[in-house]
Amino acid sequence: MSKTNSSADVDVVVVGAGFAGLYTLHRLRDKLNLTTRVVEAGSDVGGTWFWNRYPGARCDIESVHYSYSFDEDLQQDWQWSEKFAGQPEILRYLEHVADRFDLRKDITFGTRVIGVHWDDVDSVWTVHTDDGQSVRSRYFISGAGNLSVPKTPEFGGIDNFRGEVLLTGNWPREGADFTGKRVAVIGAGASGIQAIPFIAEDAAELVVFQRTPNFATPLGNGPIDPDEVADIKANYRAVRDAARNHFLGVPFDQVQPSALAVSADERRRTFDARWNAGGFRLFIDSYQDILFDKKANDTIADYIRERIRERVQDPEKAATLTPTGYAYATKRPPLETNYYEAFNRDSVSVVDVKSTPIDEITETGVRVGDRTYEVDVIVLATGFDAMTGPLMAMDIRGRGGLPLAEKWAHGPKTYLGIMVNEFPNLFLITGPQSPSVLYNMPLAIEDHVDFATDAIDHLNRNGLDVIEPTAQAERDWGTLTNDIANQTLLPETNSWYMGANIPGKPRACMVYLGGAPTYRATCAEVVEAGYSGFALAPAEARVASTVS
Ligand code: FAD
Ligand code: NAP
Repeated sequence: MSKTNSSADVDVVVVGAGFAGLYTLHRLRDKLNLTTRVVEAGSDVGGTWFWNRYPGARCDIESVHYSYSFDEDLQQDWQWSEKFAGQPEILRYLEHVADRFDLRKDITFGTRVIGVHWDDVDSVWTVHTDDGQSVRSRYFISGAGNLSVPKTPEFGGIDNFRGEVLLTGNWPREGADFTGKRVAVIGAGASGIQAIPFIAEDAAELVVFQRTPNFATPLGNGPIDPDEVADIKANYRAVRDAARNHFLGVPFDQVQPSALAVSADERRRTFDARWNAGGFRLFIDSYQDILFDKKANDTIADYIRERIRERVQDPEKAATLTPTGYAYATKRPPLETNYYEAFNRDSVSVVDVKSTPIDEITETGVRVGDRTYEVDVIVLATGFDAMTGPLMAMDIRGRGGLPLAEKWAHGPKTYLGIMVNEFPNLFLITGPQSPSVLYNMPLAIEDHVDFATDAIDHLNRNGLDVIEPTAQAERDWGTLTNDIANQTLLPETNSWYMGANIPGKPRACMVYLGGAPTYRATCAEVVEAGYSGFALAPAEARVASTVS
């Protein structure tokens, strides 16, 4: 039964129709029978996989794992064609989910949330949208994503460029044709690394502007093995349990304790096996101490550097493409297919823009110092205002009108990465300070959606209206997440994990690094203890009317 009270139009407003928003809607509407309105800026479902249509876009966690686990029939019925599905296939999957659970009828597309304001008296959120409408809801759930607001690059002049400008994070639906064109790609993170080999095939000339070389390692994609899939499907529940009990949310089980405890030969054999197996095995299924111990990290970093030099024929290009000066995996490790080989074409060059940054985009190309690289197309693969960007963009204001931007002026503050003190009834799906982007995301999303919707159900069953973490619980969580981060090598590197890719953004670790199993156990303990660290209460207006 719907629990909408007189001052709210609906029980819940959800933003986003990606993996998070779709499952949230299904859970609220079909399992809890709550009135729910989803607002999505895009014209259809898919989130990341709706916007990022650049050539080569695909997942880097095997699709049998990078998919929903909440519905046994769905996971049995759906057939993936490749080990790591491409963007069109993942989008088709999410469209199928929307059809299968009849989700679109409760989603308002092509509409952006631009204000989310808490009303202390009625204990409701007022959600304003860019079509001039507003809706009042008891709860607001953000499924706005971690990587959905593209970064505005530091250099200016983009509007002056007379050619075409393309953004990996908002790629045209009709695609792009590079045949015979001079193309600049700016950025060599995971998106650039996926797109470059495809652009290189068609372009007459491709210039890659690279600030920091990456430790990219083979994806190892290919057609999916039907026997392996049959085996997984016969044991899907156990496979998903094993995934959830793994640091990164994948059912790997070959990790060894320490890279420093074995001989160089044995280490080499382990690295070779993981390199050949592909995917995140090298990162997360080799040695446990590579994220924690610089000497252990050096062994794997040296290994990858050697492999890059083997693959890039021109020693000058190889030197430019070889990462130095930071530890492997302290930036999210990109997985690649034919990336380094693309630079063996004479038509592909790489320009180091660390020592001499890009000054500006001119009418005809990219100016670096006194040289302008004349091009027809510029591809911006410059990343995202990650984790906090999508939340800040919604103008969220909590108790007493407190802006989230003010509360987080020195970095995100949350409890469990899912709720914020002074922002009652606001749930952040895979929010900052949760495992989020260091966890297979569909599973991370399901865990958070389950937590949020269970909490709402708990309130409803107990005649309560408001849930809010205490200031103390939030402080303790902040201390814990920072202490764990400081035990790793991550804080030393400039990455979006640290907010360091956006000029002026406070430097703070955006992820909980204790691993998914510990995190999940903590959340379960919190719930078992009656939502410890949270204050649960009736609405202010109800309290006032009872008292008067
Ligand atoms: P999103 O998919 O980002 O969806 C959020 C939606 O909210 C968007 O559609 C957006 O339009 C909408 N929105 C945001 N703000 C507003 C607003 N104010 N008003 C209205 N609508 C709004 N993760 C992995 O685990 N494995 C991978 O292999 C992987 N590959 C990735 C590849 C790329 C190219 C990118 C960019 C990310 C990848 N990720 C990967 C992370 C990926 O974002 C998550 O896996 C997952 O898709 C996130 O789903 P979501 O629903 O939380 O957010
Ligand atoms: P990213 O990792 O942040 O990479 C952005 C790139 O642009 C970096 O090389 C960065 O250099 C460069 N850059 C930014 N500003 C620049 C400037 N002013 N001048 C020159 N270079 C500049 O972003 P992304 O590649 O879009 O990936 C973001 C995340 O999305 C990934 O980490 C991953 O989580 C996810 N993703 C996953 C996949 C996948 O394989 N499934 C694919 C794409 C994305 P610096 O490093 O020096 O900042």
